Amino acid sequence: MKAIIIAVSSALLEGAATNTNAAFLARELTALGFEITESVMIHDDEAKLLQVVKEAQAQAELIVLVGGLGPDDDDIVKTTIAKHLDQDLVLDEETQNRIMTYHKNSSLIMPKNNQLQALTLLDSIPLVNVTGLALGMFYQTDTHNYLLLPGPADELEPMFTENTRPLLIEKLTDKPCISSRIIRLYGLTMAQAHQDLGELITTVDNPIIQLYPSDVEIEVQLTARADSQEACHQLIAKAEKQVEDQVGDYIIGYGTDNLPNIVRQLLKENELKLTAAESLTGGAFLSEVSSLFEAGLILDGGIVTYSEATKHVALGVTKKTIETYGVVSAECAFEMAEKALKLFNADIAVSLSGVAGPSSLEGEIPGTVWLGIAVKNQETFARKYHFGYKRNLNRRHSVWSAFDLVRKVILKEEVEDRVYKSK
Ligand code: ATP
Repeated sequence: MKAIIIAVSSALLEGAATNTNAAFLARELTALGFEITESVMIHDDEAKLLQVVKEAQAQAELIVLVGGLGPDDDDIVKTTIAKHLDQDLVLDEETQNRIMTYHKNSSLIMPKNNQLQALTLLDSIPLVNVTGLALGMFYQTDTHNYLLLPGPADELEPMFTENTRPLLIEKLTDKPCISSRIIRLYGLTMAQAHQDLGELITTVDNPIIQLYPSDVEIEVQLTARADSQEACHQLIAKAEKQVEDQVGDYIIGYGTDNLPNIVRQLLKENELKLTAAESLTGGAFLSEVSSLFEAGLILDGGIVTYSEATKHVALGVTKKTIETYGVVSAECAFEMAEKALKLFNADIAVSLSGVAGPSSLEGEIPGTVWLGIAVKNQETFARKYHFGYKRNLNRRHSVWSAFDLVRKVILKEEVEDRVYKSK
């Protein structure tokens, strides 16, 4: 089924808000099997909305309207759609009670027109707003389906996930069961992922295979439709195997947890403490670790040694190492990791030293980074990376690659191109 997303909000066209809802809905609707043929943004303007909805009807069966459901004068979507469909707006008592209770409890004075948020199209299915006040709704004619959702993302997303998604599956999709699985990749570009998985994406239509960037990771989302959950799982398992055959080397995990969270879980399960000695990342790795849930279980401390002098004075890297090999070297990475391991009495220490850019350092081009790993009672090793020319992307990739090394060490996975200290 074809679908069109119409975002109604002058804020979007003035650059005061970004149309993140369209991206969220496009991903969700595509996974459900809808083909998004167009996604537009328009001003809060009745005449324009009427024109766009008429055009949309000629192209698609599902018309999704986002925003403009509130109590303000510019919230014109419900009244305009009611006019377009020649349908009445009626009061949804449950929502009206919620609005009144909200204002009573928060001792705010309820503006008279706030009750506009409780109006719904006669014969529509109301979509409860668990995080806000504006009511969403789903309305069907013989030929078309209209979905009206609120603008704030923290209202739209739960409304979609909790109420709308199951409703669309029931009313508009051909199979009663839908199931999704996310495979997480790190270490390849989107272009490479498209190249490696392109054939699979075009030849397999159940499950639908979608690729999305997620910070520096890539999510491969598999969504299967079938008559039973069991059949969905079988379809997903088969496609998962095909994805693994193509990009298995880059798989860091499954599900919605990103790499730092995957590593957090592994450290916790194995009762291990992590530390770091950072140079080019200036504390970004430790900051990421400390932002994780229950960080205290896996982290006691770490150190930032940005200059050569601090590497020696604060951490104890020998002057000889710095003078002989430089700071962008395996030897410096070994020493930084080992000193940090000792200093913070951790089980695993990672060191990050390299050239963030844009200038070169010690004859090494920007993006050249050495990551070291020291583990209690194991041989210290380091690995050299070449990320690119963008300073902060290099720092981000350094942090993520450090997490990936820790993940591989805990899981005893092969680390390609590693250099051992003793060799
Ligand atoms: P409410 O009255 O509860 O604010 P609403 O449905 O009337 O809900 P709008 O008034 O259209 O929503 O938008 C409220 C805010 O939501 C906007 O100022 C903007 O910050 C955000 N917003 C609106 N549309 C989008 C969108 N497509 N993507 C992301 N954010 C949006």
